[in-house]
Amino acid sequence: MKPVALLILTLLLGASRSFGATDDTNYPWKAGVASTVITPQTNMWMAGYAARKSPSHGTAQDLFAKALALEDEKGTRLVIVTMDIIGVRPWLRQFVEKHVAERHKLPPECLVMNASHTHCGPEYREIKEGEKTAGHYTAFLQERLAHIVDEAISKLAPAQLSQAHARCGFAMNRRLNYALPKTDPNSKKAPNPDGPVDHNVPVLMVQSPGTNLCAVLFSYACHNTTLSSVSMTNNVPRYEFTGDYAGYAQETLQNGRPGLTAMFMQGCGADQNPYPRHYMVPYVKPLEFAQQHGRTLAYAVEAAMAAHVRPVRGPIRSALEYVTLEREKKDPKKDAPSRQYPVQVIRLGDDLTLATLGSEVVVDYSLRLKRELAGKAVVWVAGYSNDYGGYIPSLRVLKEGGYEAPDYKPDIEERIVGKVHELYDRLNH
Ligand SMILES: [Zn+2]
Repeated sequence: MKPVALLILTLLLGASRSFGATDDTNYPWKAGVASTVITPQTNMWMAGYAARKSPSHGTAQDLFAKALALEDEKGTRLVIVTMDIIGVRPWLRQFVEKHVAERHKLPPECLVMNASHTHCGPEYREIKEGEKTAGHYTAFLQERLAHIVDEAISKLAPAQLSQAHARCGFAMNRRLNYALPKTDPNSKKAPNPDGPVDHNVPVLMVQSPGTNLCAVLFSYACHNTTLSSVSMTNNVPRYEFTGDYAGYAQETLQNGRPGLTAMFMQGCGADQNPYPRHYMVPYVKPLEFAQQHGRTLAYAVEAAMAAHVRPVRGPIRSALEYVTLEREKKDPKKDAPSRQYPVQVIRLGDDLTLATLGSEVVVDYSLRLKRELAGKAVVWVAGYSNDYGGYIPSLRVLKEGGYEAPDYKPDIEERIVGKVHELYDRLNH
């Protein structure tokens, strides 16, 4: 074949694979999605506020767990699990990790588990001596998670991935009075309009041939805590299960698009709150704020999908390692001297990089990693992933002190960010 003819053929083959055409070669991925209700079947203690005096009093909105399975052209798989719960406690991660390894030969680095951090979900630790409900709920949750992962993988079918992003503004930095002593009445968390925020809403869309969207994964960096009080005068947390703003965002998207599974991934929202919240505005009930913030976030996702949509190609490359984070041990009775902390990097071709970090991560990590990894690929940074156990301050927050600053050693930020870079660079090869 003459060089010119070869060039034309190459260009034609390339064009046939371009984004937006309708033949099957434009569905290089396989994807499967599954969803299940994880609302407790009986009233039980709720997670997030120690001030609660009794178990739950019912359900305002069902809680869900959802799984998205992806497979690239070489057969490499990735499973993303999102849940309307407080956090991914280590034994939950270990159970699902073991299940996917045994059943599907999926290595740990190809499993992401993210919690929305709703404070109106079940407490699945046994916090009361002799209390059995948490254990029963954990068994139920584990069975449900195994089921949806199996279902998502069994449904793997040709799909196209694309991405877009928009902005959403209700998250505000909450570290206004961090420097005040705890005895000062103004030392409570308060909106800080000048503090750092991450208002980006990244969106990953999954489309099957001949159908509408089948799944949308979206993220936002903000505590899922619109609903902290039951009344204006009584600062007692609510007693009904709900997914809070993240639950209402998913519900709004699904109501507007039958057949869609909408999945929320919590970002680095540890020092961010949704404002207004609880009874901050006397004529608005907190549930209305949660629903309104949910709709606002859902509409940001809709705006993203109407904006600059770009293809996401493979292959899947992923890495997961644990870094040691050391405490200053100011309170050795209370705090372990160190912990093993999960850092995961997933790269989808040169189009999307997802860094996931464990526990409650402040927004500085998201802003820094997006800046430092900026390049061809879009960068997502998720907190509340694969582990749950307290706040993860940046060096800035650690120096400032206050609520989100447990006494880690000052190298905490460099250890975590350094590991992200190390894994990211390793996945170049
Ligand atoms: Zn929190």
